[in-house]
Amino acid sequence: MRAQLVRRFLVLAGFYILSSIAAQADLRVINGKFSPDKKQGFVAVPAKFSPGRKQYLHEETLAAFLKLAEAAKKSGFNITIISATRNFVTQKTIWEEKFTGKRLVGGKNLATAVKSDEARALTILNFSSMPGTSRHHWGTDLDVHEAKITAPALHNSSFKSGRGLEFYNWMAANAAKFGFCQPYNGDPASRHAGKFAHGYQEERWHWSYRPLASQYLKMYQQNSGALEPAGFAGDKAAARLYMDYVQNIDASCY
Ligand SMILES: [Zn+2]
Repeated sequence: MRAQLVRRFLVLAGFYILSSIAAQADLRVINGKFSPDKKQGFVAVPAKFSPGRKQYLHEETLAAFLKLAEAAKKSGFNITIISATRNFVTQKTIWEEKFTGKRLVGGKNLATAVKSDEARALTILNFSSMPGTSRHHWGTDLDVHEAKITAPALHNSSFKSGRGLEFYNWMAANAAKFGFCQPYNGDPASRHAGKFAHGYQEERWHWSYRPLASQYLKMYQQNSGALEPAGFAGDKAAARLYMDYVQNIDASCY
C-alpha cells in the first residue's frame, strides 16, 4: 500500500517537474531568450520571400504565411518579409542604440534631448518595443512589404495611397482567412475603449498569426511577474509600462 503511494507520488512529482520545464521553455520563447536558428519549431523563411536576409518564423506561422502569400499572388501582390523573428539580444541592440543616442529617433539624440528615463522610454515605445516584450520574439509576427510598392517599408504613409493602399486593403480583407490579424491598428487610445494608458502607434505593415500569438498573449498575462523586462538600459522605467504595451492590441488579435 505504502509502496503504491510512494510510486504515485513519484509519478506526480515527475509530471510536475516535466510540465514546469516545458512552461519555462515556453516563457523563454515569450521573452525572446533563445536563438531562432537553433530553436525547435522554428524554420527559415524561403529566400524568395525575404531577399538578402535570413529570417525565421514558427513553423505553424510559416505554413499559414505561405498560403496567404499564394492567395495574394493570385490577386497580383508579391508579399515580402522585412522582419520576422527577433530575439531579446536583437531587440536590446535596437532599444539601447535609441536609448543612448547612438541611433536617432525622429531626428533627435534622445540621450541629450530627453532627460527622464521614463519619458525617453515612452518616446522609443512609439514604435520600438522593449527587449523581452516584443511580439516579434514569438515567431508569430512579421513586418511585410510588397514588391511593387516604391514607397519605403515600415511607414504608414506608404500604405495610405496608390499601390501601398491597394495592398493594405487586400490584407485587411483577406489576411484573417489565413489566421493573420493587425495588432497595431488605428489610434492606441481608442483600442479597448481607452482601457490602456499606453500602446504602440498604428503599424500597417505588422501582421500576426493569431492562433499561436493569442496563446502566447494569454501566457504572458498569466506570467506577467516572471516576464517583467530587465537587463537593458532604462529597464526600470520600462518595467512600469510593459503590460499596457503587451495588451493594447486590436481586438481581432485576442
Ligand atoms: Zn513589427
